[in-house]
Amino acid sequence: MLGFETSCDETGIGLVRGRTLLSDALATSMAEHERFGGVVPEIASRAHLEAMVPTVHRALADAGVALTDVDAVAVTSGPGLTGALLVGVAAAKAYALALGVPLYGVNHLAAHVAVDELEHGRLAEPSIAMLVSGGHSSILLVPDLAQDVQPLGQTIDDAAGEAFDKVARVLDLPFPGGPPIDREALAGDPRAIAFPRGLTGPRDAAYDFSFSGLKTAVARWVEAQQRDGVAVSVPDVAASFQEAVVDVLTAKAVRACRDHGVDHLVIGGGVAANSRLRAVAQERCDAAGIVLRVPSRRLCTDNGAMVAALGSRLVEAGVAPSSPDLGADSSLPITVVSA
Ligand code: ATP
Ligand code: MG
Ligand code: FE
Repeated sequence: MLGFETSCDETGIGLVRGRTLLSDALATSMAEHERFGGVVPEIASRAHLEAMVPTVHRALADAGVALTDVDAVAVTSGPGLTGALLVGVAAAKAYALALGVPLYGVNHLAAHVAVDELEHGRLAEPSIAMLVSGGHSSILLVPDLAQDVQPLGQTIDDAAGEAFDKVARVLDLPFPGGPPIDREALAGDPRAIAFPRGLTGPRDAAYDFSFSGLKTAVARWVEAQQRDGVAVSVPDVAASFQEAVVDVLTAKAVRACRDHGVDHLVIGGGVAANSRLRAVAQERCDAAGIVLRVPSRRLCTDNGAMVAALGSRLVEAGVAPSSPDLGADSSLPITVVSA
């Protein structure tokens, strides 16, 4: 299965055989976006176009697989940036047509969950999945990853990754903000500043998230310190902010497991690379008797292997391939696993 991922700034091409990862080639246009503090869609689309063929060749070479040995093609058809998605969909369709193999349009968010199967085997079903990335933060009930994914809750404002990116900006750390905040926090005190935990009141929705108040609280706190001429400890702010995010995410994920009588939790998406999230989730799952699965950090952020992994899962489940007129859907809902 040859997988194509172009929903944002990463051109990811992955090859899997069943649940075995063969290769995972990545090209990124992140450096071209950094000075804008966010991904510029037109730049991303152009970069995908330029990177596409060389990245496909690299994935094949790394796997030692000939193009003619490819049995099926999978591609992210949404959600994501329309122009960026279209480059991947067009390329995948061209390869599928030229090779005479089936084409599977897949949901990027479900692929963030499916990638875990490459490292930890078939997902237990039902599982609770928590998806935390640059554009999404959701808790999902997954009775069947190939065709039945049910949202239990999501963010009502910013995504978790977006909060990391915005707080990094306040602290003059580079974009994307998750990795530098994770690093700075190692030297900080997570209890230095009591930042708010959004939507954790008794009458708040049990599985919804809100991170925009937290982001504002961090900005206000830093401004106040600067106004008073007090030096801001970047490690302390990073650690305290990160702790607030991780505390809420892990508490709600464990609660979803308990409420639904599910004893398997999988965490996916770019924020799942966060070291503190991984540690606290492990502690709380151990305490609650929940089996936790998190992909290795490299597979948490966008890549082509995750798309191939979900494509492979669809084949295994006997799901019909996509039609040759598959298009891109920038707001494909999580309930639509394959398009
Ligand atoms: P989506 O999957 O919702 O379409 P995306 O594809 O842009 O969004 P991903 O590549 O899955 O997002 O994740 C990128 C996000 O993950 C960024 O917001 C980034 O800051 C965050 N991130 C990456 N590494 C870490 C980390 N170590 N700690 C916290 N956040 C991280
Ligand atoms: Mg990215
Ligand atoms: Fe993603």
